[in-house]
Amino acid sequence: MQSYTLIAPAKINLYLEIIRDRPDGYHELLMILQSIDLADRLEICSHGTQDFRLTCSNPQVPTNETNLAYRAAQLMKLEFGEAFANYGGVDITIDKRIPVAAGLAGGSTNAAAVLVGLNLIWELGLTIPELQRLGEKLGSDVPFCIAGGTVVATGRGEKLVPIGDLNSLWVILGKYKSLAVSTAWAYQTYRQQFSHEYISDHAVVTSRISKVHSDPLIQAISHKDNHKIGQLLHNDLEKVVLPEYSQVMKLRAILEQIGGLGTMMSGSGPTVFTLCQSQQEAENIKNKARQAIFDPDLELLITKLSSTGIQVV
Ligand code: ATP
Repeated sequence: MQSYTLIAPAKINLYLEIIRDRPDGYHELLMILQSIDLADRLEICSHGTQDFRLTCSNPQVPTNETNLAYRAAQLMKLEFGEAFANYGGVDITIDKRIPVAAGLAGGSTNAAAVLVGLNLIWELGLTIPELQRLGEKLGSDVPFCIAGGTVVATGRGEKLVPIGDLNSLWVILGKYKSLAVSTAWAYQTYRQQFSHEYISDHAVVTSRISKVHSDPLIQAISHKDNHKIGQLLHNDLEKVVLPEYSQVMKLRAILEQIGGLGTMMSGSGPTVFTLCQSQQEAENIKNKARQAIFDPDLELLITKLSSTGIQVV
């Protein structure tokens, strides 16, 4: 019986631009993804029988075949039938610390951890790019979650180019526990309301993507210009999520007013984050936000930006 413990970090989006529709039904995106220290912990333990069993500390998370970590295990079984026959299934235990349906890639990072864990338990010797190609089949954020860091992501989020590292910065995450935003809803609503703004000319799209590395935010990241980074945060999905969720809009406005380098919604929300130069600054902003919003449903977490993806303990 073999067992591995894996740390599966969450991500925030420093930048999210929706460029256009793709023929496969997804959107063409331009994003800057950033790993953070807030992470789930997964135990993956081989037991020699021919099935996968999954448990999760958070009752909100499904433990059946709709769980993305479970689907990752099934994908590995399908792709590596011989290894499954030799080594058998595993127990997957998720200690969930990342808020669920929060725009923090909680499910994707769990799937990434299962790919990494089974690669070890089944002694497959797959490289990170090979694991990332498998991850693409599970979800757009899974390839990023495997290696993590500060990364420009294009395509539907699976084409990754690492840029710099911002792990001296801190972040406050604000999320109402009872609020969840469906990623599918956010993108569909964006399509309904803003598809007239999509770039239709293929040459313009290619040129936009090829010039991405001269974008001001990417330049600011490579020069470690923290104030510029804070000013240049951007997320197109705010245009649909904030008007629908007034609490999130208010939280964002309050955090922005209190201070820090910059405030933005992560992914499809509803988590809002504020970047800070130090832990002390983050603590001060958190205390002020707590005084401004007396609501026990509001969770405020402080964590650091990180340069790592899935780690084996
Ligand atoms: P993303 O930022 O990648 O869009 P998210 O952080 O917004 O993701 P998740 O936490 O991944 O959202 O949860 C989205 C939905 O996926 C949840 O409502 C939950 O039912 C389902 N889900 C399936 N597997 C998991 C998992 N391992 N962890 C969390 N949620 C999961």
